[in-house]
Parts: sequence; structure tokens; C-alpha cells
Amino acid sequence: MRRSMPMSALASLGYCERYFYLRYALGIAPAPGRALRRGAEQHRLSQSLDAARRYTREELPELVARLRDAESTVVLPREALHLSFYHGGLLFRGRADRVLKLRGVALVVEEKFVSRSSGRLRRSHEYQLLAYCHALKFGRAGYSSGRGVTWLPEDAFRLLRAKYMVVERCASTREVLFASSPRSYRRESFLPVLDRALGILKGEVRPSSRENCGNCSLAEVCVP
Ligand code: SF4
Repeated sequence: MRRSMPMSALASLGYCERYFYLRYALGIAPAPGRALRRGAEQHRLSQSLDAARRYTREELPELVARLRDAESTVVLPREALHLSFYHGGLLFRGRADRVLKLRGVALVVEEKFVSRSSGRLRRSHEYQLLAYCHALKFGRAGYSSGRGVTWLPEDAFRLLRAKYMVVERCASTREVLFASSPRSYRRESFLPVLDRALGILKGEVRPSSRENCGNCSLAEVCVP
């Protein structure tokens, strides 16, 4: 079985368990073109809105002190936080879109630039956001200062309550079209998701299939 996996794989699990099985247990990848272009465009749009202070490597002790300060507010630069955790011997790695520390809360935000709002928090986004929260509470967080990633002390986020939300912005005007209410991360609700992912990877759990597969990029190779 594989040893590491991107946290975005859990978004696939939330989209369709069979997709997750095809993609990560069997290693069947969709044609890269469209997904790559979309990822690059999302990154470009996200960076164009970034106004947060970027701490240098030398300033990281100050950042850590601010994260530990119960009264502080810290807005981290977009995509600056690298996150990881182990579960069942598998390393999950990811990079959160946005992380804000608001007094006693670490708020993880997944930001999507869309042409039309879905108007809801999709399960695929929720699983990925839960993975980021889980890493803040039980894994490791590294800060990208532009000169590589520096791992922060393990307690930098651990005492904070983790919450998550999705924001959808118009891809052309950047205006917010939808913002979900922040939800609280709960470890006991997320561990079964991780266990199910591992079970599917090991072939111990039969993945369920979706009924509406219209836009699936693996539809041609999927035989449920
Ligand atoms: S075609 Fe449908 S069942 Fe198959 S992987 Fe795609 S969404 Fe899942």
C-alpha cells in the first residue's frame, strides 16, 4: 500500500468513494490537462488577493508567539501553511488555502473561484477541510517563508479550537458569492472518514458508487 497521500484525495472520497478507489487504490488518473489548468488558475486568483503580512524565517518566533497569544488575531498568507499528519501508517500532506487565527479559534477556509456558486458546503470540500483541521490539532504545520518550509512547534495551533468554512468567489470580479457558516472540527467525526479511506485502499471496504456521474472525469473507466 502507498505511504503518503495528498489531503485532496479525501476530497475525491467525499465526491465518490469509487472515484477515490480508482484514483488512489488502482492509480488510474484522469487526463491532466483540464485539472492542471484549473488548479493553476485557482492559485493565480488566490494569490492576487493576498494582502497578509508574510513573515520571514527570522520572524517566525514572533509569528509563533502571536499564535500562542490567546487574544491575538493572525491572518496567514494564502497557501503559506503546509500541513501533515499520520493515520494508520499513511502520511497525509496538504496546503491550506487560508488559515486565520481569531483569538481562540483557528479558522481554515477553502476558497473557490467559480463562475456560478453551488451555494452549499460540498462533502468533498468538507473532508479536505477536516483534514487540514486534523493536522492543526494532531499533526504538523510548516510555514513557507519563500526560502523553504520551516516546521512550527507542535503546540502552535494545538490549543485552538479548529473551525472550517468554504468561500466561493466570482472568478471574474472576485466578489463573494457564497460563504458557508463556520463548522467545528470534531475528531470523533473525522476518524471514521479516515478509517473508511484506509479500508478502501486496503481492499477491506467496498466503495460505494454515485448515481449521478455526469461530469466525472473517470466515467470512461468506471464499471461499478
Ligand atoms: S463514474 Fe460515477 S461511480 Fe464511477 S467514479 Fe465517477 S462518479 Fe464515481
